[in-house]
Amino acid sequence: MTSLSLKGVSKSYGKVEVLRDIDLDIGKGELVVFVGPSGCGKSTLLRMIAGLETITGGTLEIDDEHMNDVPPSRRGIAMVFQTYALYPHMTVRDNMAFGMKIARKPRADIDAAVANAARILQLEPYLDRLPKALSGGQRQRVAIGRAIVRDPKVFLFDEPLSNLDAALRVATRIEIAQLKESMPDSTMIYVTHDQVEAMTLASRIVVLHGGNIEQVGAPLELYERPANTFVAQFIGSPAMNLVDAEITGTGAATGLRLADGGKASVPIASNPGDKGRAVRLGVRPEDLKITQGDDYLLSVEVEIVEALGETTVFYFKPENGASGVIAKLPGIHQIAKGSRLRLTADPEKLHLFDDKGHSFLYRS
Ligand code: ADP
Ligand code: MG
Repeated sequence: MTSLSLKGVSKSYGKVEVLRDIDLDIGKGELVVFVGPSGCGKSTLLRMIAGLETITGGTLEIDDEHMNDVPPSRRGIAMVFQTYALYPHMTVRDNMAFGMKIARKPRADIDAAVANAARILQLEPYLDRLPKALSGGQRQRVAIGRAIVRDPKVFLFDEPLSNLDAALRVATRIEIAQLKESMPDSTMIYVTHDQVEAMTLASRIVVLHGGNIEQVGAPLELYERPANTFVAQFIGSPAMNLVDAEITGTGAATGLRLADGGKASVPIASNPGDKGRAVRLGVRPEDLKITQGDDYLLSVEVEIVEALGETTVFYFKPENGASGVIAKLPGIHQIAKGSRLRLTADPEKLHLFDDKGHSFLYRS
């Protein structure tokens, strides 16, 4: 069941095209997260869905109804912004009831809707307070409550946690996950630049970059099978290491040689014509392991050690076509700056990208 469908949607401001040919179907009950670096067009796309920006190309359908020219108030959507935009002189109850009052809904319906939202968001003790007597997280919950009261078909969130401090951001993120669980049929689109929020909240993530969709998939699908080097380095922290390599043997387990003498065999099929081809090998910092053997991937010199207790993060000296390699090893390690290490990884944890940055896994 499709709740929302974008077909070839684009957006230009004059000659500047900020979104190109966006195709995306969102099912009823999904929580889809748009993630990408600042300026990639996330808010613009969300605002086009809301009707706050015109769509300059393509079509938007909500519940199979063409929406391009329908005003925001008739689209059945509710939007929650980074700034809560509450009315400072109104109580929590009146802030949440305001939209229904304006729409002249019956008193009993308004009371029931506000009580329901307050229960879901655990705002019952605060209904008679003014916004200034609430914490940032509570204010954001009131803003979400105002959206719930409208009983929309689709909820849109634009970076709702960005104004909160780190601890509150984590707590409110968990509340949003619980909110989604308590409303399994409601469709939500959530915009963030924070890949941790995307990974923890999304049923599917849409990675945007430079006005294009780079990849759409479940969080762990993007982590395990990134379609290109952009997604590979955007999802996961620290970012995936990319090192230059050359294909030495082709077939179902493709052989590689690295500049420092390291070797690898990647369980990815390549063609005979690929022999000698320059590629990039991707390996996540948390997938690297120290080895004493001759069968290593990388030989590296430790430049910086960050001991975090639960993990130790090593930054290695750039050399041999491997710049900025990072390893994240579980636990505590007594390894000093200047030490030389040999690193390896399980073959199934290795990724391979062609000269355009596309994953070999996705090659037809
Ligand atoms: P994000 O939310 O991903 O950070 P935005 O959707 O806000 O990005 O912006 C995407 C791009 O569109 C940016 O390069 C921004 O400068 C541009 N943009 C946004 N609004 C306007 C506007 N009203 N006029 C011209 N360019 C705009
Ligand atoms: Mg934005």
